[in-house]
Amino acid sequence: MNTPTNESGAAVVLRDVHKSFGAHKVLAGVNLEAQRGQVTAIIGRSGSGKSTALRCIDRLETVDSGEITVCGRRVDDPHVDLKALRLDVGIVFQSYNLFPHLNIEENIMLAPRAAKGLDKAAARELAHSVLAKVGLREKATAYPEQLSGGQQQRVAIARSLAMQPKVMLFDEVTSALDPELTGEVLKVIEELAAGGMTMVMVTHEMAFARRVADQVVFMNAGRVWEQGSADILTNPTTPELKQFVQSEL
Ligand code: ADP
Ligand code: MG
Repeated sequence: MNTPTNESGAAVVLRDVHKSFGAHKVLAGVNLEAQRGQVTAIIGRSGSGKSTALRCIDRLETVDSGEITVCGRRVDDPHVDLKALRLDVGIVFQSYNLFPHLNIEENIMLAPRAAKGLDKAAARELAHSVLAKVGLREKATAYPEQLSGGQQQRVAIARSLAMQPKVMLFDEVTSALDPELTGEVLKVIEELAAGGMTMVMVTHEMAFARRVADQVVFMNAGRVWEQGSADILTNPTTPELKQFVQSEL
């Protein structure tokens, strides 16, 4: 149910984005472009501003200054249509936050029913089709507690896909998982990439970034310090990226 598009160009653009929490400057002039149909991997040390940058894209945080454009919509505009923005952008976090008292298909049906007015039958059919995409069609009537962490995260991805977003944001979606469960989640993301989904993902999975990312963005001290193809991980230019890559080996 993803929305591959033949349109080229930037799906997400950040221009000189600044953001502070109190006196703490977290984003100090971030410039970033994520192209349609491509995977942009954001890497960097803890505290470098990766999550904040991602949250600004979906307007979960407001910027102090600078411009953010998502699918042609100015997100930094105080009057931005948040409902329309959230229909265009899906976001998946480290914590999957499924409702424990609802079964898997009911968890997935909630948002399409509420936001798109789908009736129950249509929403259920949609739920089954996105569950098939993440390889969990047979778990439709199971409850979250019956699933492994990796399976729950795949459900969270399916829940996001059910809204048919144009862009998907992932914030360290495998960081809470045991190592043996990360592979199945990364595989789902890789399949979405192959299907043409536009994705911006914060990740610590260097091997995955190397293999799947069209663009790698290294953030440091609230700035995009270095960016380019995955080759920058092999041949970093800045000492900061060199050191980061070594620390992740
Ligand atoms: P990263 O995702 O790269 O680890 P974050 O964007 O989460 O970095 O955080 C960058 C800095 O901003 C950190 O020092 C963090 O403590 C701070 N920060 C993030 N969110 C908030 C907030 N809501 N209030 C205050 N400080 C915050
Ligand atoms: Mg983070």
